[in-house]
Amino acid sequence: MTRAFNFSAGPATLPESVLRQAQAEMLEWNGVGASIVEISHRSADFMAVAAQAEADLRTLVGIPDDYAVLFLAGGATTQQALLPLNLAAPGQRVDYVVSGHWGKTAVKQAQPYVEVNIAADGEAGGFRDIPARAQWQLSDDAAYVHITANETIHGVEFREVPDVGAVPLVADFSSSIASEPIDVSRYGVIYAGAQKNLGPVGIVVVIVRRDLLERAGQPRADIFDYRSHAARDSMLNTPPTWNWYLLGLTVQWMLAQGGTAEFARRNAAKASLVYAAIDGSGGFYRNEVAPGVRSRMNIPFFLPSAELDARFVADAKAAGLIALKGHKAVGGIRASLYNAMPLEGAQALAAFMHDFQQRNG
Ligand code: PMP
Repeated sequence: MTRAFNFSAGPATLPESVLRQAQAEMLEWNGVGASIVEISHRSADFMAVAAQAEADLRTLVGIPDDYAVLFLAGGATTQQALLPLNLAAPGQRVDYVVSGHWGKTAVKQAQPYVEVNIAADGEAGGFRDIPARAQWQLSDDAAYVHITANETIHGVEFREVPDVGAVPLVADFSSSIASEPIDVSRYGVIYAGAQKNLGPVGIVVVIVRRDLLERAGQPRADIFDYRSHAARDSMLNTPPTWNWYLLGLTVQWMLAQGGTAEFARRNAAKASLVYAAIDGSGGFYRNEVAPGVRSRMNIPFFLPSAELDARFVADAKAAGLIALKGHKAVGGIRASLYNAMPLEGAQALAAFMHDFQQRNG
């Protein structure tokens, strides 16, 4: 059985060398006489893995010392609820820019706790563009401004960091972290579920400027408190050790490959192959996103009919290109091209798209 090119939006393809190392170490790890999933998170052996993963992630993403890095159980959605609890006072206003499905989710998770001002919303335009910064209706007194750096379903991506003045910018980087160099110092908080670019599902990274940890926030249990997690190096309770280990291996792989500058180059090359196949198809394939905000990570597109969409997905699978079905919210096709997707995968997809059109166009 050979591995297919896997275009899943997440959980997503991982580097084969990472999977092989995890496989080799599954029964016995590091001379401890047990698997890493069978030992205490407080053992010196595991603590070293955790510390190394943080150090490597700091190097990879360029995280300054005045930012804490939390490795928490669960996913990005949980963080969307914890953000207002930690950063905003009861009833305080927060500003959200909604550029797709995940921005809407972030609003929904915050609304029970704070007054959410939708500063801009791309939904009327089908989330095919990001509302221009000049149109945002920001509040004067917001606790933070929230954006979704890359919308995994709608395929729209911020290509520059918006200026929101002194108010902390909070960004959901779940589907684009480490895909290119970013200036962390422009953000108050960056959060990312790991299951796209960082490793396996079940662990989420929160990069938070330390001064924001001093905010009183709202009444909350210790386990929902970023400050408590930071004080205990994300070991307030039993962390997802296996996921943390796999994340560490994936980050090491990205560093060995050349880091975010190299992935920016590769990701641009991969995305341009697929966009060229769409744009050069004479309208057979359609991507409706405004060119300036097209995502490099997730490329949604449509064929002339739902029937052809379905045939495309089935034929692609038979050709070793899997998980191309679009999200049910938009339909069509979606190709996700995260860091672990090799150039050959994008080349194979572009060639398949050309062949499919010849046969069905
Ligand atoms: N934000 C974005 C940008 C996502 O892509 C996803 C998951 N696809 C989420 C949030 C939700 O993440 P989780 O399922 O880990 O809660």
